[in-house]
Amino acid sequence: MRTTFLPFSTPTIEDAEINEVVDSLKSGWITTGPKVKRFEEAFRAYVGAPFAIPLSSATAGLHLTLLALGIGEGDEIITTPMTFASTVSMIVLCGATPVLADIEPGTLNIDVSKVRDKITPRTKAIIPVHFAGQSCDMDPLFSLAAEFGVKIIEDAAHAAGTEYKGKRIGSLKSISIFSFHPNKNITTGEGGMVCTADEALAEEVSLLKFHGMNREAWKRFAASGSPNYDIMLPGFKYNMMDIQAAIGIHQLPKLDNFIDRRRDIAEFYNRELVDLDELALPTYAPYRQRHAWHLYTPLVRIEQLTIDRDRFMEELKKHNIGSGLHYKAIHHHAWYRKNKPVPDNALPIASYASERILSLPLFPKMTMDDAGDVVEAVKSVIMEFRR
Ligand SMILES: *Cc1c(COP(=O)(O)O)cnc(C)c1O
Repeated sequence: MRTTFLPFSTPTIEDAEINEVVDSLKSGWITTGPKVKRFEEAFRAYVGAPFAIPLSSATAGLHLTLLALGIGEGDEIITTPMTFASTVSMIVLCGATPVLADIEPGTLNIDVSKVRDKITPRTKAIIPVHFAGQSCDMDPLFSLAAEFGVKIIEDAAHAAGTEYKGKRIGSLKSISIFSFHPNKNITTGEGGMVCTADEALAEEVSLLKFHGMNREAWKRFAASGSPNYDIMLPGFKYNMMDIQAAIGIHQLPKLDNFIDRRRDIAEFYNRELVDLDELALPTYAPYRQRHAWHLYTPLVRIEQLTIDRDRFMEELKKHNIGSGLHYKAIHHHAWYRKNKPVPDNALPIASYASERILSLPLFPKMTMDDAGDVVEAVKSVIMEFRR
């Protein structure tokens, strides 16, 4: 058994990132400035989006996108129960009603055939989440959106570098929201980016992100700016700082290598764990895509074991292996159980996955020996608690 603890994820921060942050700190320009502009432009070009708006988080991006689209009281937004809470919480905080459509069993992405059933005259948008970095099936979603006149907002928090049929997520005719939280495929500490081809929406999100000040107001203390500014509407404080962008500038060029490394580890797990009946491994969608392998999330078939998923995770920890929970389904969380109850039989696949899913360690810095330790620990927990 390994002697040190292997966390489920840890970011790869090297000298370039550290030196760039130090440079920002010494420069006297810490908050939104030239480095945010550089990161915005580099990320925009990488994903192939006409417009990109850097923000303090993906949650901020979801919030502002919904507000900019005028979504509020009386509107319904269809999304997946297999996501981080913020996707659904932002819908609720805008005053709209989240409507959960079930997921597909293998990819755990939203099931497009279930989305159709949920569309009503009140539906304003669909928020697919590219679960674990694997693209949702976007063509049928775009067809539905066109048929019913609803918007597609991609929660692309897992999907920096993901491609769908040869196109990068961020370059499709929709709105894509990325996250740079430390666990995500690239990080800025905390951070997010809204990418879109819709210029009016980009303008509105830009205004809302920083007090509703008119464009380029961040320059008002610089030689090239004017200290005067105007408040165009009451806005939020969701801007990204230069010390965050300083990290991102050096993370982005590594993203493709990070993804290759993640794929190697995920495919090692797939090969090594395939014979275990007690696990249901993640599967690839049938269409052409690049999976960014943000997470590796097998389901534990608890009916074949004497322990539940939470105990399984505790047992892994006894072997010095960390794991994550992505995700307990939205309708299983306390607030949603109480305020937006959905019976399990209305979302059978998500309810099933919610009780069985866990995330095994997956990050670029881990070695194949680390991955071997994970496999060994998973196998010994299964041996010990097999029925
Ligand atoms: C991480 C995450 C978010 C929120 O991202 P933040 O940048 O932490 O706000 C939203 N949705 C999904 C699916 C996520 O994984």
